[in-house]
Amino acid sequence: MLSLSDLSLSYGKHLALDKVSFQLAEGETVVILGANGAGKSSLLKALAGLERYSDAARITFVGDDIAKMPAHKRVDLGLSLVPEGRGLFPALSVEDNLLLGANTRNGRPREKENRDYVLDLFPKLRVRARQLVGTMSGGEQQMVAIARALMSAPKLLMLDEPSLGLAPIVVGELFETLKSIRASGVSMLIVEQNVQASLGIADRGYIMETGRIIGEGRAEDLLSDPNLQEAYLGTS
Ligand code: ATP
Repeated sequence: MLSLSDLSLSYGKHLALDKVSFQLAEGETVVILGANGAGKSSLLKALAGLERYSDAARITFVGDDIAKMPAHKRVDLGLSLVPEGRGLFPALSVEDNLLLGANTRNGRPREKENRDYVLDLFPKLRVRARQLVGTMSGGEQQMVAIARALMSAPKLLMLDEPSLGLAPIVVGELFETLKSIRASGVSMLIVEQNVQASLGIADRGYIMETGRIIGEGRAEDLLSDPNLQEAYLGTS
């Protein structure tokens, strides 16, 4: 479904991504792990078309070459990003934020079905439809951000640190919701600090260090890998 090779990205002299290559198959949930500054957010932004990267990069998504495609066309093809910090419109209501997410080629014709789907997934948002997003808790805002991305009917949902700053109980709910989204057939690419919970719902993981992918494996193998345990789980 998604294949990339030789994706390099620099901020001035700083090389944030160094010839990154990987693949994600249809229906897969893949987690990208790595320390702060490893380049995980840069990778998701590059895939979404929100950062400039090397001309040599090759990116195909559902059979199309998207390496030079603008961001909105990637969304039309079914590639949607829930950015770190969520990127919501705080002065607008939940409903209006959702409608903005539906304004895409796939989202428009299925606006009603998608709305019903996301409100079933997040029943709280049905009750809060008129509430201004800026007045909601962090966990509620994360729900709105994911719901908005789903309104574009994505084939691949990319999530940048969805559990960041959320209380443990809310994190648990969030991962349950991601499991339901996965079960509905949407593929996911997730950047997370919460290694255990994210690998718990994933098929595979990649490990990034200073702009490179330095390891990969099946989620259950990574979870039982003693080196990974030591590096990211704080145990050995
Ligand atoms: P974190 O988990 O802390 O967000 P990350 O793995 O997502 O880390 P990135 O945010 O992709 O890492 O950043 C990779 C490197 O690029 C870091 O050294 C960061 O300081 C740098 N960087 C990121 N964005 C910019 C920018 N807009 N301008 C300059 N440098 C940047």
